[in-house]
Amino acid sequence: MLAYSNMGTLCRTGVPPKWIGSTKPEWTPSRQQPASDFIVFLEPIRSAVHPLRQRCRNIVRDTPLDLIAESDEAWLEFLLETERQFSVASKEWWEDYEALRSAWTDVPKDPSSAVLPGERAKANSIRYQLGALSDISVIEWFSDAGFLPRYGFPIHLQRLSVRTPRVDRADKSTTAEGYRLERTSLLALSEYVPGAQVLVGGKVAESKGILKHWTEANRDEALGLNNWALRCSNGHDYLATSQDEQCKECGLPPQDAGQALMFPRFGYTTAAWDPPKPPGRNLDRVGEVVLTTAGGFTFNAATKTELNFGGITSLIATYYEAGQGQLLLRNAGGDAWSKVGYGFAVCTRCGFAMSEEKPSNPKSPPALPRKFTDHASVFSSNPMSRCWPNTLAYEPVLRHKVLAAKETTDVLILDLPVNFDEATLFSLGRALVLGRPYIRYPANTRRPVIRDFS
Ligand SMILES: [Zn+2]
Ligand SMILES: [Zn+2]
Repeated sequence: MLAYSNMGTLCRTGVPPKWIGSTKPEWTPSRQQPASDFIVFLEPIRSAVHPLRQRCRNIVRDTPLDLIAESDEAWLEFLLETERQFSVASKEWWEDYEALRSAWTDVPKDPSSAVLPGERAKANSIRYQLGALSDISVIEWFSDAGFLPRYGFPIHLQRLSVRTPRVDRADKSTTAEGYRLERTSLLALSEYVPGAQVLVGGKVAESKGILKHWTEANRDEALGLNNWALRCSNGHDYLATSQDEQCKECGLPPQDAGQALMFPRFGYTTAAWDPPKPPGRNLDRVGEVVLTTAGGFTFNAATKTELNFGGITSLIATYYEAGQGQLLLRNAGGDAWSKVGYGFAVCTRCGFAMSEEKPSNPKSPPALPRKFTDHASVFSSNPMSRCWPNTLAYEPVLRHKVLAAKETTDVLILDLPVNFDEATLFSLGRALVLGRPYIRYPANTRRPVIRDFS
């Protein structure tokens, strides 16, 4: 997955140093987007006699791209189009990076001691996000953006890592080998989120947190990538890097505080102090996965639009090819039956996470549940130990994080005529759901998710 390195290296960006003392560390990031190595690489290839053109000839023979090797103009046009699409695919990464970079710069340099812990935690949390953004592999980013093909790449697979006490030192723990628990992000979001139980090798393992990708040497590495899910008063759902960002589709401000999202990058983990045990009762599911189209930020170029689709007056069908359509999956935790979730509290030290029990309130945050403040690190096999000492002046916790994942997919949107009544709509919905098993799909493609996105 790192054959083309990661996005931070490709874009030659950096991450600020960690803030430890009372003054914010110096960091002067370059304000300019350097020309990407890939664009530099494309330039000499434009020459009609470049050997790469000959090598492409064999690859594209008898395909719709056959033309590019035949005429000089087509070859040049192809390379310019490649460059253009590469820039489009990089744009969103740059926007995220620049938004986070200015958020870090905006944190005051020398805050008074009263607000120091809060400001420092904020800067360090932004630093985490910059790190996570930079760590995304080039393959993953550009496959998601529809620039590279994605089939065949193990993209968005997430793991439930099972921790067990070490044989030689019972107070230490290790990742248990022999459990191969991996799911696509969609399934992981419903089956592996903290609190969920999984049947494995005849035993029940309970997910206790978000997997931090770390060793002792780089313990402050990112937990995940943070974002906001907002909705404007026109009902558009969109993703943003700040809570007051305007709707990307219509420019209206968000209608409420939205949801603070966390995209777990590496998956989930059990706790060493709670090894898999024999099954006793039904498995617990946590929260509910909510699907929405991540509209406004990739839904811009329809592949095909048909009016009066299927001979029905005013029925509009719009088709978006893979790369153009993106689904946002969310799980706000809580009880799967009550369908109310307030997000998760996540320990930034060990990744331990629990569903929040009360709604978020920025003015007076609800107290953390006792079970959370007294939790043992997921890496410790002693359930009576504490993850952080009582003397710590702040709580190393991210609050009310809604766990999320993005899926790139083909999308067909049916805009129904206004005279469709509810019964007709319901019949059509049932027909699509029932018809699904009978639709034939090419090998290696995933079956579509059929949901009413209103
Ligand atoms: Zn809007
Ligand atoms: Zn912890």
